[in-house]
Amino acid sequence: MKTNKILIIEDEEKIARVLELELTFEGYEAQKALDGLSGLQMFREEDWDLVLLDVMLPGLSGIEVLRRIRTNDENTPVILLTAKASVEDKVSGLDLGANDYITKPFQIEELLARIRAALRLTKHQVKPPIDENWLQVGELKLNETTREVYRKENSIDLTPREFDLLAYMLKNVKIVLNREQILNEVWGYDYFGDTNVVDVYIRYLRNKIDKPYDYSLIHTVRGVGYVLKDMP
Ligand code: CA
Repeated sequence: MKTNKILIIEDEEKIARVLELELTFEGYEAQKALDGLSGLQMFREEDWDLVLLDVMLPGLSGIEVLRRIRTNDENTPVILLTAKASVEDKVSGLDLGANDYITKPFQIEELLARIRAALRLTKHQVKPPIDENWLQVGELKLNETTREVYRKENSIDLTPREFDLLAYMLKNVKIVLNREQILNEVWGYDYFGDTNVVDVYIRYLRNKIDKPYDYSLIHTVRGVGYVLKDMP
């Protein structure tokens, strides 16, 4: 697993040092900046997973640093460290896109819990939304809207006919389909060609979705037709 990188922007050296040590001890990669401007510079130079940002900074304030961070980065979580219980700072910080704040003096355990929560939340947001248009059997999935097909993590290119055939089989997983059924559903009732065309297209599909992999998903049922099922 990748080590999460945390940037600490805090002008009180002792606090900054303690935070850096504690976070490193917890397995994070932590670096500190002692003023807003150098903090902002460090933020822009590297990729960070989270920023701990003191509000009361000399020169460029924490709120101003946050404003500048958020002008082109909406996602990196920022936790504000507020020295006083200033409601105003907290509200403007949250309005500007801070993810959380913690009031000094704080228990390191509480801060660590909030860091974990903020990191969990970003990880969650990064996950693609659940798409109801995915049909799936075992390692194979197909999206009818985007017309994407994957086996494991590999994207598979299908012709429109191959795609329609696979989509039909995916909607009928574990059901044995005979050639006439497949022909009617995929080629349409007005198709009067040879039913052998089904066998030809099944072969095309197998070459793309089964052959390169450990086991087959398309099975022949002798004398009847074909079935799609997940059976290693
Ligand atoms: Ca300060």
